[in-house]
Amino acid sequence: MTEANSVLAVTMPGPQLSIVLPIFNEAELLPQLYARLRRVLDQLRLPCELIFVDDGSRDASLAQLRAMQRHDGRILIVELSRNWGHQAALSAGLATAQGDAVVMMDADLQDPPELIAELVAAWQAGAQVVVAERRSRAEHGPRRWLTAAFYRLFGYLSDFPLPDRGGVFCLLGREPAQELRRLGEVNRYLPGLRAWIGFPAAAVAYDRAGRERGRSRQSLWRLLRYGFDAVFSFSYKPMRLSILIGLVIAGLALLGAAVVVIERLRGAGLFHQPVIVGYTSTIFAVLFLGGVQLVCLGLIGEYIGRIYDEVKARPLYIVRRLHRAEPDRAEAERGGSAANPL
Ligand code: UDP
Ligand code: MG
Repeated sequence: MTEANSVLAVTMPGPQLSIVLPIFNEAELLPQLYARLRRVLDQLRLPCELIFVDDGSRDASLAQLRAMQRHDGRILIVELSRNWGHQAALSAGLATAQGDAVVMMDADLQDPPELIAELVAAWQAGAQVVVAERRSRAEHGPRRWLTAAFYRLFGYLSDFPLPDRGGVFCLLGREPAQELRRLGEVNRYLPGLRAWIGFPAAAVAYDRAGRERGRSRQSLWRLLRYGFDAVFSFSYKPMRLSILIGLVIAGLALLGAAVVVIERLRGAGLFHQPVIVGYTSTIFAVLFLGGVQLVCLGLIGEYIGRIYDEVKARPLYIVRRLHRAEPDRAEAERGGSAANPL
């Protein structure tokens, strides 16, 4: 800890560091997660708050969090009214966080808590945004190549660079966190938004482990949607591409029509064939163009659907209850260590 920070720690009320963790049916992981977090936080010796966002878990996650909270005043639980999804849960945590620095990370131990120390060190050295970049990832099969394909596509489509190894895991200083809170779009892709707000970012590399237990809580379909959100909320290129494809096809069709008309006027068949040879080519052209049109309509639909979502301006999530620790315990323990309830 720098001298300035340690002075702050003594004189300023409230947490310096907020850690935001979205939780959806992670009961079997929570003890391990909490033990590792505690070890890291106790070493850091910063006043901190641990914000667990319960995203409509249907297992014992909430009860376990409440039990943890009874022994650790640093814990704050944001209970959402239902399952709102990973990005919404993170946003709820970000909105609640009061620290000068906010760490966002997944709770499934794919993002190692031990890295928080490095993120904080980079922040204390002056970086306002610190992104944890994976050196390697442990996923296999379709998830792995879908993710790789997605990052390539995003790199091509996006008008500004996105670090292709950075996911959700990051630390945001006070200003970037505040700017990110101001962005209220419904279809969110936080790593993209984080790159969009700017600020010089530092990177810390790590090896991304596999999920510690259980299956991914995100279905493949949700992951695809997430990818679509990333592409459509950061780029007009798909629409521009469809205009280009339309122009090329229309140009070719005009050229073809001109050739047929000229041949007809000259009274000869194309390549000495009768002009109208049948409907194979017609059917092909109609089907092909119909397909292209449907794809383009679908693309436009993706944008319009998102516009509709934004116009409705519904909240990103609804908080059912905010569980705070009892005040005196919170006061006594914020910044200090706590007894282990588990
Ligand atoms: N999560 C959530 N709501 C959801 C799905 C997931 O809060 O609807 C949480 C989950 O508990 C975990 C994090 O988001 O802490 C990442 O989820 P997961 O590991 O299942 O996703 P993946 O790593 O496969 O993208
Ligand atoms: Mg995961």
